[in-house]
Amino acid sequence: MDFDMSPELKMLLSTIREFVEEEIIPLERPFLDHDYETLMPQLEAARQKAKSLGLWLPQIPREYGGMGLSLVEHGHVSEVLGRSLLGHYVFNCQAPDAGNMEILIEHGTPEQKERYLMPLLRGEIRSCFSMTEPENPGSNPTWMSTVARKDGDDYVITGHKWFSTAGDGATFAIVMAITDPKAERYRRASQIIVPADTPGFRLVRNTSVMGERGFGWASHAEIMYDDCRVPQSNRLGGEGDGFTIAQERLGPGRIHHCMRWIGICERAFDLMCSYATLREIAPGRPLAGQQTIQNWVAESRAEINAARLSVLHAAQKIDRHGQYHARDEISLIKFYVAGVLQRVLDRAIQVHGAMGMTDELPLAYWYRHERAARIYDGADEVHKRSVARRVLRGYGANV
Ligand SMILES: Cc1cc2nc3c(=O)[nH]c(=O)nc-3n(C[C@H](O)[C@H](O)[C@H](O)COP(=O)(O)OP(=O)(O)OC[C@H]3O[C@@H](n4cnc5c(N)ncnc54)[C@H](O)[C@@H]3O)c2cc1C
Repeated sequence: MDFDMSPELKMLLSTIREFVEEEIIPLERPFLDHDYETLMPQLEAARQKAKSLGLWLPQIPREYGGMGLSLVEHGHVSEVLGRSLLGHYVFNCQAPDAGNMEILIEHGTPEQKERYLMPLLRGEIRSCFSMTEPENPGSNPTWMSTVARKDGDDYVITGHKWFSTAGDGATFAIVMAITDPKAERYRRASQIIVPADTPGFRLVRNTSVMGERGFGWASHAEIMYDDCRVPQSNRLGGEGDGFTIAQERLGPGRIHHCMRWIGICERAFDLMCSYATLREIAPGRPLAGQQTIQNWVAESRAEINAARLSVLHAAQKIDRHGQYHARDEISLIKFYVAGVLQRVLDRAIQVHGAMGMTDELPLAYWYRHERAARIYDGADEVHKRSVARRVLRGYGANV
């Protein structure tokens, strides 16, 4: 493994880190206070500033107005942005827009690119990805109830989705729907663009997650599609390509998430160590002197370092050999880093005592919302099962 950074990348990361510290972290206060009236204009101004400095769309090719970084380079950027609750949004590389941009670049027709991709890249609109259904297991997405029936030149879509992240305020959804129930399992579904102003598109609510409904891009929508009629030209790729395209977005998407989680871990680690140094449990006796705290610091440092190397290794393998050859590494980091994230956050909260439970710091927000890291983009158990089965088959096991 060779993860030496070029001088250009080092300089870029230092610029981004400064931007995150000075321009983005101060905006966390109104975000954590749910004071969106104060937050939104400031957030928009930060986005414009990032854009004008060329700190925009790090993972998108240059010909589409992005920074053209490789997956490994974007991984490093994603870590620095992950230090703030708002970093990825300010650089316009937040989920699910980032994944939607990538699949539109890869599979969009010229018309789809003009109408949906370009405004997304410019940061003028947002989008969501609507695959999971409350009635069916997301872990087995071939079992799906949403259907797209052909009628003349149109599709008529009927279905019930939830956890469509950022559906609130999205201009369009990319909807996974069954287009041929008789086809082979993985050829049954297609991805179809549905504008949010299509008659029959109904955002039921933002689902409450750990007590918070959120707003805008930081929310998870339940959506009914009641006979939504869209032209067949809104389909991404060929009919039946839905799962293939979904798979394509997931490999790089997992690298983005894992590096963002490492950024969260680093911020939590800084907060934990600073507080342990300052907080005294008796005059002249800082928390940092306690061996339990020292164990947590050492364990966290080791786990974060190991997590980073594993993710960069997976990213490098995708960059060099494609995601099919890196599928084991992708699965391993997905559950391993999610676990590290939760342990590090838990220790950081514990060190802060009661303050750790408040929204004075971002720790409690992350603790609430990143519990989901073990569930989305494939539950831990599904990744463990896939890797373990492949390993065991190498030993001749019939599993
Ligand atoms: C914060 C958040 C954001 C999300 N954003 C989106 C989004 O933008 N768009 C979208 O379409 N979806 C999104 N999802 C949904 C997510 O993809 C699904 O929750 C996930 O695929 C799991 O599906 P499920 O919730 O239906 O759980 P199920 O599939 O019902 O599984 C329940 C549990 O069963 C266990 N399990 C499942 N399969 C196996 C197995 N083979 N072996 C052992 N155990 C197993 C796991 O522990 C799993 O957690 C989001 C979810 C969350 C929490």
